[in-house]
Amino acid sequence: MSLLIKIARILFIHKILYVLYKKLDHDHSVFLINTLKSFKKKSSYCKIYSESIILNKNSGLNIFITFDVDTVKCYELLKIDFVKEYYMPFNFNLLTNWVYKYSFNDIDNIFPKYEFGSHSSDHDIFLAYHNVDEITGKIKMSQDKLGFKPKGFRSPALSFSKRLVDVLDTLGFEYNSSIMSYNTRQRIPLFSPYKYEGLKLWEFPILIMDTKYWVDWKMSESEALDDTFNLLERFENSGEAVTFCFHPCYFETNFRYYDTLFNYIVNQKGMTPLYLSSYIDNKV
Ligand SMILES: [Zn+2]
Repeated sequence: MSLLIKIARILFIHKILYVLYKKLDHDHSVFLINTLKSFKKKSSYCKIYSESIILNKNSGLNIFITFDVDTVKCYELLKIDFVKEYYMPFNFNLLTNWVYKYSFNDIDNIFPKYEFGSHSSDHDIFLAYHNVDEITGKIKMSQDKLGFKPKGFRSPALSFSKRLVDVLDTLGFEYNSSIMSYNTRQRIPLFSPYKYEGLKLWEFPILIMDTKYWVDWKMSESEALDDTFNLLERFENSGEAVTFCFHPCYFETNFRYYDTLFNYIVNQKGMTPLYLSSYIDNKV
């Protein structure tokens, strides 16, 4: 095959991939922006909701700490209850058909202390882009294997689509937490949880993700703490809520970051750590 044909073929494949990518990206952006618009329209309604929340009225900040249990190490740490000394509400999202062998017996003793959700079955990062039957099959598989009925869902690699949201609602999930707030690509300036129009499902946009600090941006613990506290200061006393997405496997290597943050949240007046479901329970 001549070099020219080879180049033409590569260019053609790239073009198809690019068009597919743009199409998916466009559909998802339109969906997200419409959601945001309807959320804004109802902002006065949402304000009434905010005022009625018992734990954090018009001031302060509700905090949601979530952990995705992605690796064998994450799972081993979870089994020993690595965050027990903070006495805080933590959310953990579990995989059922992935690198660790999940069994409900492993988490039985810590199950009543925390809230557990699904992170899908096999960490398929294209989960949201499959058809409805495939998405349903993978999520149902995880639901069936968990040994309890999960209230929440975190999509692998934050793979996201309208189809996924509809499937989660149909399968009886109370909330999803699979988009980044202030995402540079989607530009969604949302940080507080919101309910999807016409569905029972809530979304908890993620404000801070630890993999961005340690993997993408290669930050030191001091830089990450500066970034986190700058963001927290912006939202302090807003009466709103922010979600953190962490991974247990970084807890040992960046202990100072998590320890400083958790102690601050516990001791700072007006900061209210909550389970994601208790936030919803206070709103509906
Ligand atoms: Zn993950």
